Amino acid sequence: MNEFRADLHCHSTCSDGSLTPAEIVSLAKQVGLSALSITDHDTVEAYASAAPLCLENQITLISGVEFSTQFEETSIHILGYGFDPDHPAITQLCARHTERRRQRNLEILSLLSKHGMDISEDDLTDAASAILKEKRHSIGRPHIALAMVKKTYVESVQEAFKKYIGDGRPCFARGMAFSIQETIDTIHQAKGVAIIAHPHLIAHPHIVNALLEMNFDGIECYYGTFSTKDNARWLKIARKKEWLITGGSDFHGDIKPNITLGRSWIGEEHFNALQNRLK
Ligand code: AMP
Ligand code: ZN
Ligand code: FE
Ligand code: FE
Repeated sequence: MNEFRADLHCHSTCSDGSLTPAEIVSLAKQVGLSALSITDHDTVEAYASAAPLCLENQITLISGVEFSTQFEETSIHILGYGFDPDHPAITQLCARHTERRRQRNLEILSLLSKHGMDISEDDLTDAASAILKEKRHSIGRPHIALAMVKKTYVESVQEAFKKYIGDGRPCFARGMAFSIQETIDTIHQAKGVAIIAHPHLIAHPHIVNALLEMNFDGIECYYGTFSTKDNARWLKIARKKEWLITGGSDFHGDIKPNITLGRSWIGEEHFNALQNRLK
């Protein structure tokens, strides 16, 4: 009998991952995961196709999403789990994000054009789908970076982010902002739990402190690139606040080839606590 492992953070072709939801489920089976959540950026599309496959493969699937929010000038990611994916509060927020991304991507393309790099909206979907197979629901900067590579404006996705489209770089555009509070409220309306994603990536301590005062339900204590020291820090905070403890790899497939599915996970105790909270 395999050890119980739940990977609660990964991305499919519905956002900026390179495997379809079905391929993620197959891989989860292959690497021996007991439970899974597909947490695409700002879309819950993966759940419907993954659910029957997980059932067939005896993998427990919980609904998931990673919402982009803004606090002051900083981008903060919030994970939602166990919500009703058809709840109007969720579908409406996802639809508003689709519009935000469309507008924001156009802004970025316009800035790139000013820097002599011409990429049309069609190039963007073509470049993304040539590599990533499917029509996307949540097009973002990784797809713009792929189009830039395809058009040989840069040599790699990393170079695209570093020189042009990373936060604060000359062709970066933030777009419409969604607040942390409205995002937490939406997840709660749909009967889910709201979790602070990869807290170690939040550079400003005052932002971390502000988040810890908000009505989150948990914190992602185990994450792809955390050190054991990082884990201990967030575990201590979660225990003190009696918050849920979650974890996952943030697997994206080929886009981030060094991060494998199941690389970070939580065991049965923390997963059961999450399931009990959702009952
Ligand atoms: P977006 O949601 O469109 O703002 O894109 C954010 C996503 O881009 C993140 O979730 C990562 O998957 C990816 N990303 C952010 N920074 C980098 C970077 N420096 N290199 C590669 N990918 C990145
Ligand atoms: Zn991503
Ligand atoms: Fe994230
Ligand atoms: Fe993620």
